[in-house]
Amino acid sequence: MLYYNLNKPLEKADFRTATIQGLGSEKGLFFPERIPLFSKEWIQHISDYSNEEIAFSVISPYVGNTIPEHLLKKIVAETIAFDIPLVTLSENISVLELFHGPTLAFKDVGALFMSRCLGYFMKQGAQPVTVLVATSGDTGGAVANGFFHVEGVRVVILYPSGKVSRVQELQLTTLGENITALEVDGSFDDCQTLVKQAFSDKELNQEIFLTSANSINVARWLPQQIYYFLAWKQWKNKTKPTVISVPSGNFGNICAGLLAYHSGLPVTHFIAACNANAVVPEFLKTGVYKPAKAKSTFSNAMDVGDPSNFVRVLELFDQEVEPLKQVMSSESISDTETTSTIRSIYDKYGYLLDPHGAVGCLALQRYLEKHPDYSGIFLETAHPVKFYEVVEKVTGKKVALPDSVKALLNKKKIADKIEADYQVLKHFLLKK
Ligand SMILES: *Cc1c(COP(=O)(O)O)cnc(C)c1O
Repeated sequence: MLYYNLNKPLEKADFRTATIQGLGSEKGLFFPERIPLFSKEWIQHISDYSNEEIAFSVISPYVGNTIPEHLLKKIVAETIAFDIPLVTLSENISVLELFHGPTLAFKDVGALFMSRCLGYFMKQGAQPVTVLVATSGDTGGAVANGFFHVEGVRVVILYPSGKVSRVQELQLTTLGENITALEVDGSFDDCQTLVKQAFSDKELNQEIFLTSANSINVARWLPQQIYYFLAWKQWKNKTKPTVISVPSGNFGNICAGLLAYHSGLPVTHFIAACNANAVVPEFLKTGVYKPAKAKSTFSNAMDVGDPSNFVRVLELFDQEVEPLKQVMSSESISDTETTSTIRSIYDKYGYLLDPHGAVGCLALQRYLEKHPDYSGIFLETAHPVKFYEVVEKVTGKKVALPDSVKALLNKKKIADKIEADYQVLKHFLLKK
């Protein structure tokens, strides 16, 4: 399998190169040259396969021969070594719980897969890399955990001071060793800008080899398809048209779902559920794509004002909006609606949502009101305990802390505080 650069289609790379480089030249994202298609029989008999077998079948065409089969099987097993249950909420609504991984959010799947792949490529003699990421909350912890102790990889995480939850902050600041956290006096956009400046600084890139672990990296993005197939395996309402609602920020997750759709996953419709950062819902309404400064919300991992992966979503539909609209709609949910959804779902079903899942849930409920013949799944992308500050305020109840979180709360945060100034970041990167 080869990948082409969306900004420069003649530039191609295999999975190894695309993973190591992160981005193509002219900041173009890599996109698979062809999309594998599953047979109807395979889909029909999906429950006959183990989760590992399904995951391997989904991802192996994308990896090609860049990783030997037995190693890829091991990597896949480590990527999904936790429960991914589909829980029934009501007759028409189920929740796919993606928060049972080590850092309690769905990003563990992509981060574990990418770190294992990159670790393998390092062992094969690739030069040492610095993974540089900006996080609005969850990416930092997932990447820190995934890359902890991976040889040949140094990780530098930039996060906005005071804008991530306590659990999120501790997950990315307490590991040490090859993981460094920089607490930036600024917003997530400032962090993102610093990272982009570093990637386009020729002088810096001659000194150190930089790559990204955001969902622009194919090794982070592609394995996210796996859990859509695992949802289908567990789904009982297959006779009705199915809609899946995906809490969306940078649009990597929903883009993986749409990729699975193009591979034959028999889902009828997808909803990109956004918070107040409504660039895509507005675009689908007006036809005008207007990037905006990110607004802070309770669902902070979705506070993105210019989603990087949306260009991939469009590419799946040959850059045409009308065919996209047949398959995907998008909804913007406010913070007030988010908290009232957390409360109403808790009161009605005794089920506790995190703010991201709540956005997905309400967008789904609205869709189902208009399409009563459908039944739906929403993705619960983070454990409510990651956002206990919000959730406890809404429900008035203490959230039970899992042991892993209790242990975390006793750890000491280690972060270097920096101004949102590129020269400071550059100096830091060159120093070590
Ligand atoms: C990152 C994240 C999202 C958004 O996912 P994208 O792939 O960026 O659209 C949603 N929910 C949670 C909890 C996240 O961490």
